[in-house]
Amino acid sequence: MTDHWQKSARNPFAGYTLDRAQKQAQDPDWVAAQMAGPGARFLPVWRAQNLMTDSSHSTLLRPDEAAPWLPRAESVTLLGQADGHTYFSFALPPDTPPEALAAYGTFQELRAVGALVSHFEGGLLAYARAMAHWHSQHGFCGVCGHPTESFCGGTIRRCTNPACAQAHFPRTDPAIIVLTSFEDRALLGRQAQWMPGRYSTIAGFVAPGESLEDAVAREVQEETGVRVKTVTYHSSQPWPFPQSLMVGFTAEAASDALCAGPDCSDGELEDARWFTRGDIRRGLAVGTFSMPSSISISFRLISEWFDAGDEGRLADLV
Ligand SMILES: [Zn+2]
Repeated sequence: MTDHWQKSARNPFAGYTLDRAQKQAQDPDWVAAQMAGPGARFLPVWRAQNLMTDSSHSTLLRPDEAAPWLPRAESVTLLGQADGHTYFSFALPPDTPPEALAAYGTFQELRAVGALVSHFEGGLLAYARAMAHWHSQHGFCGVCGHPTESFCGGTIRRCTNPACAQAHFPRTDPAIIVLTSFEDRALLGRQAQWMPGRYSTIAGFVAPGESLEDAVAREVQEETGVRVKTVTYHSSQPWPFPQSLMVGFTAEAASDALCAGPDCSDGELEDARWFTRGDIRRGLAVGTFSMPSSISISFRLISEWFDAGDEGRLADLV
């Protein structure tokens, strides 16, 4: 059986090799020296988009190229070290003209380029995007309301009120995502705003007071009326849209009784159905079925289930 760590490492945005240098980040002199050093590389973020030299390569600015922009950045974050470089991200204010860094590339959505960049760059871009979002959302202390400031190389924020001084850490919201099967069929659903024909695995946020497995059973039941009898962990994936951790599972349904209509589900899904592998193969061939994005763990969960059957490899059909 494959080690879960190895399994997760294959998911986009996961398993890239980066030393986050958390201990060194506590030393402001070390951080400043790294920022000015020849090995520093900077990833700009603007309006949740990453700067790309082209669709498959992120822009990595050298210190002299980043220097004019750092004083106006909303946040600067030490991401970590790898292969002799120290990586930082910085977030430009939303009112920065989009052509500001045009000499170095164009700002693009990670959802659009995530499948085209290298595994390492995908992880860096996702981390940079997530940190820019977190900084933008935590400018004020949730305890006392005073402004917060960035410290430890931007990996933590701290309340500026001396009487409070609360430290605020980057947050990640766990969400479950699950391929539920019954005999030779898989349960997939779609939201009304998705492109026609697109179906995906069932997903939802973990609620306070429940385990991951509880969340799987609850979400499947709420969204489709299906009751699961087994829940098995698969792998996980950082999902910086804007700040989730997707925890992937497979589940077996107790029966195929399903009800996705507004009378018996929470209405989050427009439709949910059981699909055989043949349904998917035929739907892909005639264009009535489409898969979720290839950067998502849902794509992987569906693919692995599909490939275990006798309809060929899903990757050859999409
Ligand atoms: Zn405070």
